[in-house]
Amino acid sequence: MASASALSVPETRVPAPAPATAPARERASCPSPRARGRVARRMRAFPGAGSVDAGLRPRASAADAKSATAASETPAMTDAERTSLRDEALSWAAQHGLLVATEGAPSGATMAARFTHAPVSLLPTPFPRAAFELAAEVSPLFAELSDSVSRDHAFLETTLSGVLETDAFTRALWDVYVRCGGQDGRHACEVGVLRSDYMLDAPSGAPLQVEVNTVSTSFMALGSRVQQMHRHVAAYFPNLEERATPADDEDALAAAAATLAAGHAAAGDASARMLMVVQPDETNVFDQRLLADALFRDHGVRVTRATLAEIADEAREEDLADDARDRRFVSFRGERHSLVYFRAGYAPSDYPSEKEWAARLLLEKSGAVKSPSVAMQLAGTKKVQQALAVPGALERFVREFASVSALDDAKARESALVSACAKMRAVFAGLYALDDAGASAAVAMALADPGGFVLKPQREGGGNNLYGDEMVRVLRTHDPSAPRGASGDLSAYILMQRIFPPARRTTCLRKGETVELETVSELGIYGGYVRVGSRVTRNAHGGHLLRTKAATSDEGGVAAGFAVLDAVALE
Ligand code: ADP
Ligand code: MG
Repeated sequence: MASASALSVPETRVPAPAPATAPARERASCPSPRARGRVARRMRAFPGAGSVDAGLRPRASAADAKSATAASETPAMTDAERTSLRDEALSWAAQHGLLVATEGAPSGATMAARFTHAPVSLLPTPFPRAAFELAAEVSPLFAELSDSVSRDHAFLETTLSGVLETDAFTRALWDVYVRCGGQDGRHACEVGVLRSDYMLDAPSGAPLQVEVNTVSTSFMALGSRVQQMHRHVAAYFPNLEERATPADDEDALAAAAATLAAGHAAAGDASARMLMVVQPDETNVFDQRLLADALFRDHGVRVTRATLAEIADEAREEDLADDARDRRFVSFRGERHSLVYFRAGYAPSDYPSEKEWAARLLLEKSGAVKSPSVAMQLAGTKKVQQALAVPGALERFVREFASVSALDDAKARESALVSACAKMRAVFAGLYALDDAGASAAVAMALADPGGFVLKPQREGGGNNLYGDEMVRVLRTHDPSAPRGASGDLSAYILMQRIFPPARRTTCLRKGETVELETVSELGIYGGYVRVGSRVTRNAHGGHLLRTKAATSDEGGVAAGFAVLDAVALE
């Protein structure tokens, strides 16, 4: 997922910089025949990728991990160069809002005293062009897939059944979905600002998908600013230009604002505001405020920021009434809000009491458009990601995509289906269920090679996955005969192949000083998605973000304090 609040980077886990981007045009979900040919060629370039049975193909071993962390050479920089670059970057960050709060600071003097530059790489990080283009090309397909899954009640219910019995947070989200009428209660519009995350698999060179974020995706604004900052320093220091020019990609901030504005327009009330649901102690506040600023400046949409607790307290009683759906808005502090955009609500800590759940229910029940709906949030769970990797599961959904099903000829439909699924499966890492008959075999496989796997609960925001000894401790408790929810039942988790990206040396800027680190990077591809009724009216590539972290760190969130913001330099 998603955004988290603690933006300070722990001393022991310093993050670093990274990669490049694709062409600035919009990408439709239906690839042209030429595009399909390009993808086929790219897939041949990644020999380890693309097998339908992604879960069973050879994984990177601990030995591969070692070779993947031999940092590649980066051009030398003199101390004087680094100091000039540091101060130019710092000054640029202050002038252009590349900022974060150091602590949650709601207003006035406390807010003014508590902001600093975002942790960033000083230069963009090289990233292979073919891998970048493949990731950018498949991401709109994953946006459509997430929405298709969100509309399939039976698939959601079956897939999540083990999780719903064992994980109280996912259960509570499910209850909101059911209490709002399930599929029947959904708004006709779905609006998604998604981000699909990838790490390069060093052995094959393929970009393997870490996850698809369907709720509270963040850093589209600061990520766009980092690219601008990199472009500025490359131009300002001409001797850097060759090695330091970021890819010329779609601007992620403008794209996210355009998607939300399209959602606002689809809601049909031009003078209504957008309600941005935020965390009370948010530190990634400038990322959000830059987006609000772009929405007003470029689209005339005004934004209200409010926490779930404030919404619970201040929404008027009549907005809780069952007929609220007839009014196509949420009324808050005397204003109509026709679009609710969640930058909170993805983690259990966002719901410290029943009050916050009441607010979530109120918003979901209301007639406003939600970005995302709770169904779309559920479609972004790690359990769903794993279930889609099962042979045949992905294919069932892609067959219904308009780009496939609308073709007249059966042969053409089959060929479009095979092509889209091959592209998507080319980025699947190995994913294994722990709630079915194969669980014991999956547990045994991970216990035999703990360095090759990650154990994931149904959580967003970073810092929740288990690696190494911690993972082993939990896996050893596995008891296939344990009833759901009892000790020994691991239904709330999935197991994933650990991806080993190539390492590089990166100059990171944090707390005003530079630090050289051996790093790995994670590429995020944003997408803007709008569906009105059964028609997808927007499914566009929305720019990229690179997050770069110390190679020794397991988790990678910038917001969670493990990484720096970075951009791609295509190589
Ligand atoms: P979250 O929803 O908390 O962001 P992710 O699945 O994205 O959860 O995992 C958090 C971080 O953990 C990622 O950003 C990445 O750095 C690391 N990570 C996750 N999955 C893998 C994997 N399969 N291999 C290597 N690192 C991973
Ligand atoms: Mg993530």
